[in-house]
Amino acid sequence: MAKLNKCSFCGRTENEVGLMVYGIDGYICNDCIVQANEILKEHKSGRNKPSVLQNLPKPKEIKEYLDQYVIGQDAAKVALSVAVYNHYKRLNHPGAVDEVELEKSNIVMVGSTGTGKTLLARTIAKMLLVPFTIVDATVLTEAGYVGEDVESLLARLLQAADGDVAQAERGIVFIDEIDKIARKGDNPSITRDVSGEGVQQGLLKLLEGSVVNVPPQGGRKHPEQQFIQVDTKNILFICGGAFDGIEKRIAQRLNTHVVGFDASRNVAKIDKSNMMQYIAPMDLKSFGLIPEIIGRLPILTHLDPLDRTALRSILTEPKNSIVKQYIKMFEIDGVKLTFEEQVLDYVVDKAVEFGLGARGLRSLIETIMMEPMFEVPSTGVRSYVVTLEFARKKVESANMAVLKESTEDK
Ligand code: ADP
Repeated sequence: MAKLNKCSFCGRTENEVGLMVYGIDGYICNDCIVQANEILKEHKSGRNKPSVLQNLPKPKEIKEYLDQYVIGQDAAKVALSVAVYNHYKRLNHPGAVDEVELEKSNIVMVGSTGTGKTLLARTIAKMLLVPFTIVDATVLTEAGYVGEDVESLLARLLQAADGDVAQAERGIVFIDEIDKIARKGDNPSITRDVSGEGVQQGLLKLLEGSVVNVPPQGGRKHPEQQFIQVDTKNILFICGGAFDGIEKRIAQRLNTHVVGFDASRNVAKIDKSNMMQYIAPMDLKSFGLIPEIIGRLPILTHLDPLDRTALRSILTEPKNSIVKQYIKMFEIDGVKLTFEEQVLDYVVDKAVEFGLGARGLRSLIETIMMEPMFEVPSTGVRSYVVTLEFARKKVESANMAVLKESTEDK
């Protein structure tokens, strides 16, 4: 009987395996190929040896990068830059350093809608060397109810990491609209609070750092599904929320606290136009976040309301400002587009007048530019100037109600 070739790795013979691949001096069967591939993948993803992130951007460099895209919001930028930098440091030094365990510091950013929370998160994601995902807290519900289980946000992080668990375990998750899962009312036990406290409890598990069973496809868990285990210990969570009406709570707290000898001096110092800057953890608690969650979000920072100057800068200064985008679009067609300065002031005026905020800037510019975008490419002109007269005509004839709605949808 002819001698059968054996796999040089597992020793099984040709007729015991599906396929045998021949090398110069040995053999490998299909099963060993698969196994070797797994080893290779694990090695690449750094599971065996955590890869050291070289040339980490320093907090100042991270902030400088954010400055190119986001106007103002220095407090939030500094908090984010430091948190992300520390996150990298922790990844480079897993385990204790001289008995000192580096614990992560999750962040919560509080600021009115349209002040740049998501923009900050997206911008930071662009420069990151770790997987990053943005999840809306409003889609999350307590397990067993319609909606997505809390674990689904890890499924998205896994997707962002191309399914690589080790990478996902070093990632960053931005949870938007965290205020929408606040406890409704002060008495939590009257009815089941499907999207409130239950979700907070679910989130707590992730924020604390635990091994979580994640449904690979996201969405709901169901019994036959295979789960992937993800350890959240090193995942950095950044939360954002508008916390509508929290200014009143801050004001109340400041008023009740400012009593006694020094009271008049302290009151005078309070800037009533921007109460958000005085936000403290207890305000989040009175808004309806459970203390355990607040404790797991030790860095609390705020975004300032955008004033006229900020709105004016947002139009033109960021690297991909709306005005720059339009100029670029025309340039591709060989047309030099310019806006009269007064047009930009007018757009800011209208955004303020209609309370549209930064999101309104885009809607207004889009309203003005619709006709030129349609007409200009066919005319063969080499330059086009948007005048105040034209802008005014377009905005006045637009239905402001529609404009407002289109801003709110975004
Ligand atoms: P939020 O998440 O706070 O509700 P966004 O970050 O989604 O607000 O902001 C909406 C849009 O407004 C952004 O896409 C951006 O065009 C603009 N914007 C808001 N704040 C700023 C800012 N500080 N700097 C530059 N653009 C901003």
